[in-house]
Amino acid sequence: MRKTGGLPLSRRVARRVEELKPSGIRRFFDLVVGRDDVISLGVGEPDFPVPWRIREEMIYSLEKGYTSYTSNLGLPELREGIAEYYTRFGVKALPEQVMVTSGVSEGVDIAIRALIEPGDAALIPEPCYVSYKPLVEICGGEAVTIPTAPEFRLTYEMLMQYRDAKAKILVLNYPANPTGVSYSKKELEEIADAVNELDLIVLSDEIYAELTYTGRHVSMAALNGMEDRVVIFNGFSKAFAMTGMRVGYVIAPPDIFAGMLKIHQYCMLCAPITGQIGAIEALRSLDEVERMRAEYMRRRNFVVKRLSEIFEIKKPEGAFYAFPKISSTGMSSEEFAEKLLLEKSVAVVPGNAFGECGEGYVRLAYAVKFEKLKEAMDRIKEFVEEHGEG
Ligand code: PLP
Repeated sequence: MRKTGGLPLSRRVARRVEELKPSGIRRFFDLVVGRDDVISLGVGEPDFPVPWRIREEMIYSLEKGYTSYTSNLGLPELREGIAEYYTRFGVKALPEQVMVTSGVSEGVDIAIRALIEPGDAALIPEPCYVSYKPLVEICGGEAVTIPTAPEFRLTYEMLMQYRDAKAKILVLNYPANPTGVSYSKKELEEIADAVNELDLIVLSDEIYAELTYTGRHVSMAALNGMEDRVVIFNGFSKAFAMTGMRVGYVIAPPDIFAGMLKIHQYCMLCAPITGQIGAIEALRSLDEVERMRAEYMRRRNFVVKRLSEIFEIKKPEGAFYAFPKISSTGMSSEEFAEKLLLEKSVAVVPGNAFGECGEGYVRLAYAVKFEKLKEAMDRIKEFVEEHGEG
């Protein structure tokens, strides 16, 4: 075997990286690339373009030649705007506590790197967004998953069962990808009681906060005495349909903020300036969010109605995902998703891509045009009818 740097080629990548599993979502995404006949309910990406007035601001900024780095922390006007904006979720943060990141993805990564020492445990309720566990493992930490099926709601009692894990952090995401579960203030207060008893730091991924269909989102950091325990992550990808602009932000207690900033300035320098300029305009465009939320809610109601005719399904309270239980078909999640793609050209993601307890479910992203959604629901119904009981 050819050797490089004294190591065989097969050993050049660090073992902890070699051992990571590739994302189950990507695999299904790759299967549909280049196929026009497929209706993809696979990837969680808004079907709306960036609202026009936000695009216009970005175009003008390029015309004016604003193409440089910004300060590590982000444009001051944006940081001020974010601090002001977050009061709507009950948090009184200072602009100095806001760090602009390259998406929530970067924020979660640098928070985990700033907090986790090799051997430290992180509690991760499952099913959950695919990044959390690998990011903990890359740091040599132990990802302790908490299965939440069939209700998919984390509770005080569930968390307290993990007191022996001596975990340092809890990763919480609500409204949740992939289940659409969100929490009321009362439920959050109960979770917060366990967080206090177990002395945890909460990484609160609130990227779908604006896409809550059951009233106003409440941030975990807004609860009494929690501001010092919670790192908030949010961004512009989902609610403002700005996935490709790569702008997110973090609101964190000072010590954690300082640690994260060190990593951010070495690995990222700053978030892209064009996206940041767009984000300033985005915060003035909440009516656009309202318009998109109303459309997602219409789709949610439709999808839940159609799917509940064939499957057991909980009504999502936020985000743009439905998570029906498909085990009544006798198929595994993977089998269901693969056959559905092959036979009916509809792409969904197997539930086990989000953790073992997602087995028996699939995730459908309803961030596609209504007409396509209707067609997809018809094809799924046909598929289930052709495969027996349902
Ligand atoms: N967090 C959750 C729960 C997500 O679902 C996603 C994207 O699907 C992200 C974070 C990534 O967001 P960003 O585009 O801001 O990096």
